[in-house]
Amino acid sequence: MTTNAPLIMRIMALSINTAKRAGVIIRDVLKQGDLGIVDKGKNDPQTEADRSAQRCIIASLAKKFPSIKIIGEEGGSDLNVCDEWLVSELDETFLRQDCPADWRDAQPEDFVIWVDPLDGTAEYTQGFVEHVTVLIGIAVKNSAVGGIIHQPFYKQSSGELGRTIWGLKGLGTGGFTAVKPPANEFIITTTRSHSNALHQKAVDVFNASKVLKVGGAGFKVLQLLEGKAHAYVFATPGCKKWDTCAPEAVLEASGGTLTNINGEHYEYHENVEHVNGRGVLASVGNNHQELVEKIPLEVRQAVGTKQT
Ligand code: AMP
Ligand code: MG
Ligand code: MG
Repeated sequence: MTTNAPLIMRIMALSINTAKRAGVIIRDVLKQGDLGIVDKGKNDPQTEADRSAQRCIIASLAKKFPSIKIIGEEGGSDLNVCDEWLVSELDETFLRQDCPADWRDAQPEDFVIWVDPLDGTAEYTQGFVEHVTVLIGIAVKNSAVGGIIHQPFYKQSSGELGRTIWGLKGLGTGGFTAVKPPANEFIITTTRSHSNALHQKAVDVFNASKVLKVGGAGFKVLQLLEGKAHAYVFATPGCKKWDTCAPEAVLEASGGTLTNINGEHYEYHENVEHVNGRGVLASVGNNHQELVEKIPLEVRQAVGTKQT
């Protein structure tokens, strides 16, 4: 049965297990203590966990799907990894579901897989480990369609560490229970480490009852999905396609919306610019366009221009 499943279902099913394996690597690096921090830019650290988790994910996906384009945050990866890091088993529970008709015939050349092996690295190095996620985003013909968000440090009620959330447009989501945010409040989730004056202006126009400053694009989208916030506002360039592909797919599979600050969806083809130049606006209600229009046009137009 598994080998006959449509390609997108097999990619999702392997990505679920691969994200979990990457989560174990991320926990192991922290336990062992030497993070091996390298600065890639201002406020942009990389650790041994980012490097090793990416090698595990890319080697596993590339071995099973050699003709599919995979783009990871940490650049080209050595595909020769130890057997322990090579994941080949597909998640059988996921595979038992029906593939949505829209993706059933998608071919290898239609896909790009966007990998953020560790989203929230700054928070990982600072001890805010609950903000950390592993993101595997699956784009089909330019759009974010499927995604895995794995939380290595999530504590299950059973005591087990780690949680894996998936979403596929047309099928839905799994691994968590969606909760609506409180109706009588307006809560924003936003960056804790990449703000500037223009971004602050965009946050301020909402006059939110609460502003939650948390790390990572994956964790912020989880705040929306679990009813902790109504909107994710990031009015500055800086996050990349690997930050938004999986979160966008999971959020939209659950009925929400993730766009740039002007309400336009990003593209995810293999030659697209990596930086999300016009920021991020994500929401769970059905008032996304209203939220876009709340941000003054001059603020929206200034996001991503040289002087910002
Ligand atoms: P944040 O919302 O600041 O936690 O950022 C979400 C994701 O985008 C993380 O992976 C960050 O590393 C990345 N990011 C956001 N802004 C920048 C920036 N100015 N430079 C580098 N990475 C950024
Ligand atoms: Mg990231
Ligand atoms: Mg990362």
